Parts: sequence; C-alpha cells; structure tokens
Amino acid sequence: MMREYLLAPILQHYARRQAKNLTFSECDDSVEKTISSNESKHAALPLYVHIPFCKSLCPFCSFNRYLFKEAEVKTYYSHLNAELGFYAEKGYRFDSIHVGGGTPTVRTDMLASFIDKAKSLFDLAIIDVESTPNEITDENIRTLKSAGVNRLSIGVESFDDAILKDMGRPRYKGVDALEKIKMAKGKFNTVGMDLIYGFPSQSAESISNDLGLFKSSGADQITLYPLMPGPNKNTAIERRFQKTALKSRSVKKRKFFYDLVRKNLLDSGYLQLSAWCFSKNRDDVEEYINHSGEYVGIGSSSISLLNDIAYINTFSIRKYGERLSKNRLPTARYKRLDRKEYLLYNLLSSLFGMRISDYSRKDYRIMKNELLLLDLAGIIEKKDGGFRVTDRGAFYASILMEEFLSALNGVRETCIAQQV
Ligand code: SF4
Repeated sequence: MMREYLLAPILQHYARRQAKNLTFSECDDSVEKTISSNESKHAALPLYVHIPFCKSLCPFCSFNRYLFKEAEVKTYYSHLNAELGFYAEKGYRFDSIHVGGGTPTVRTDMLASFIDKAKSLFDLAIIDVESTPNEITDENIRTLKSAGVNRLSIGVESFDDAILKDMGRPRYKGVDALEKIKMAKGKFNTVGMDLIYGFPSQSAESISNDLGLFKSSGADQITLYPLMPGPNKNTAIERRFQKTALKSRSVKKRKFFYDLVRKNLLDSGYLQLSAWCFSKNRDDVEEYINHSGEYVGIGSSSISLLNDIAYINTFSIRKYGERLSKNRLPTARYKRLDRKEYLLYNLLSSLFGMRISDYSRKDYRIMKNELLLLDLAGIIEKKDGGFRVTDRGAFYASILMEEFLSALNGVRETCIAQQV
C-alpha cells in the first residue's frame, strides 16, 4: 500500500486542482430565472444563513465578516427576510436551517425574530446556530431556546489561554469558555463546540488537555478544525497568520495531530460523524459542511447548489441590500457543473462524511477511476451496497477537505477584497 507521505501530496494536489477548476462567472439574468422557476419542485432542502458580523475580527479567519455595527445589522436582517421570502414565494421548502457567520448571536433578539419568520414559512426539524463563548449568556440561551433552536455550536477554538492569545482571540479565558458550555449544556438537543488544531505553538499536551476539558464540559459534540491558510490576507497581522499556518502544514505534523485527536476521542467512546466531528450520539447531525446534495444559502457571500448550478451571493453588504431593495436576488457569481464536476464535489463531501452511497450505473461509469484509486489506496472499502471510509482513510478525507477549503479561502478573500 502506498506510503502516507507519498499519498498525501497526490491527494492535496488533486483537491487543489479541483478547487482551481471551480471558476465562477458573473451572474446574468438566466441564473435568477432558473432559481425563480424552481422547475424541479424540490423536496425539502437544508438552508444555510450567513450573518456576517462579529464584535471583533480574528486574524486567522477567512469568512466574509465585518465589524459589528448596530444599524447595519438591523438593515441586514430586513434584507435577509426579503431573501427568505423570495424562496418561500417560489415554492422552495426547507427542513433544516443552519445559521453561521460571522457571529449569528451578535444580536440574538433579531436572530430570534428571523427564526420566527422562517418557522412561519417552513416546517423546520433542525434549527442550528453558531455562537462564541462571549455571547453565551443566560438571557441569550433563553432567547434562542424559546425561538426553537435545538442545536447550538460554540466556537471555543482552545481552552489554553496562551494559544488563544496566539490565535488573536484573547477576548475570553479558557476557564470562562468551559463555564459557558456548562451553562448551555442540556438546554438544547445538541450542544457542540469547535476547536482549532495545528498552531505551531500547540503541543500534544495542550491539545490533549483541551480534549480532556471538552469531555469534562458535558458538550455532546466536538468539531476539530485544522488551521487553514488564507492565501490572500491583507493586514500585517493576517499575513503573520498566513505564515504561521503554512509553517504547521507538514504532512507528518498534520497526521500526528489528526491521529492524536481521533484516537483520543474514539478511545473515550465518541463516534466519528465526519472527518472532523465526533459525538456520543450516532443520531446527531454534523454541520451542513458534509451535506452532499442540493442546498440553498442566503445572506451575503452564501453559496447555493441547485440542480446543476452552484451560485454565490455578493460579498458586499451594500450591494446585497441594494439588490434586494430592487426585488432582485443578490447572486453575484455562478458555475454550471457538468455531471463529472457534480459527482466529484459529491465525492469530496461524502468522503468527508465518511460514507459514500451507492452510485447509479451511469454515475459509477463516470467515477470508476476515482473510486478504484481510492479503493487501491486503502482509503475506502465496499460496505452495505456502498463504500465507507476506512480507518486509514479518515486522515486523507480530512486533508482533501482541508485543501479544498483552503483553496476556497483564497477565492473568498479575493471576493471580499474586491467586494464582488
Ligand atoms: S473566527 Fe468567528 S468570531 Fe472570529 S472573525 Fe471569524 S467568524 Fe468572527
């Protein structure tokens, strides 16, 4: 079987090439017409909602996010409601909503009103919201709970104060983050937390300590994100992070940390729901990131996938508002995927979700070389009428997604800089 340190660069190159091939064109009216016609009368889909505001901006972050300004947030929600209403009017149905950002809980009262509106339009089984330790208060928990939020994910990133400082996130102490999780625990069906690993200053001891604190916190789920570079960072502090992220990207080091966290959590009885997510409960859902079918994203910079079109909303808050004020969709870029491109995207998400459903004969013919190679490399194996990712394959599923998202970070940063 091919050695890790040979296989990893081949897969990295492949993922980067796929991301590079995703060249988007400027939207024309045909995109809006296709979305408006909702020809296929979709089954219920997942809905992603982007709230692009944060109380302070972390230098390692490549998401579309802007410094919180009260008035802007209020206006943004009125436009978000208009975009949501558009999809309802065209007959789209959503059964789950994932609110990310940014920090969706910068104004929890406005978020709750938005969720109320979404509930009045759609039958939502899952209402999932991201937050940060600073926004977890008794009052916010009550507001989110009474709005019907049933999954809360808290971006802790680390419990280690020195690492938090290195991350440019010294706004809370590890001990406070732990208290916030304990405060939220039991109030929602699932309370999850995020940790980032791979900072050069992070040791095996520090990450093991973080995992120990996660287990003691009583949180139901943990998602471990590798530190990912953003190649087009602008400010000096951001560029320092870019260098930091690149320094810690040797395959050997990434595998060491990945194996460490995976073994630690599996040995403690956690189940692996995706390459990065572990939970005590098999029925827990992972974040929308491993959803491999169609979905709609609303809000500035959100990405959607409908039929064979992937399209992105404008990254500019101003343009977002202007378009919706004129009763136009805020779409900015799109790409029509051919069947092979669609199946490759689907394969990446499925590998990340650790399970690949069976293919139709026609699709299998299109994908047989990729599946054969993954099988020969010991990354997947046949199981129950489909394929599953092997123990050996988990790390490779992780680096494939990491490379793809890192490349996407670059696209995002360019779009933010140019206010596409
Ligand atoms: S990491 Fe989270 S809190 Fe920090 S800037 Fe990005 S979205 Fe905002």
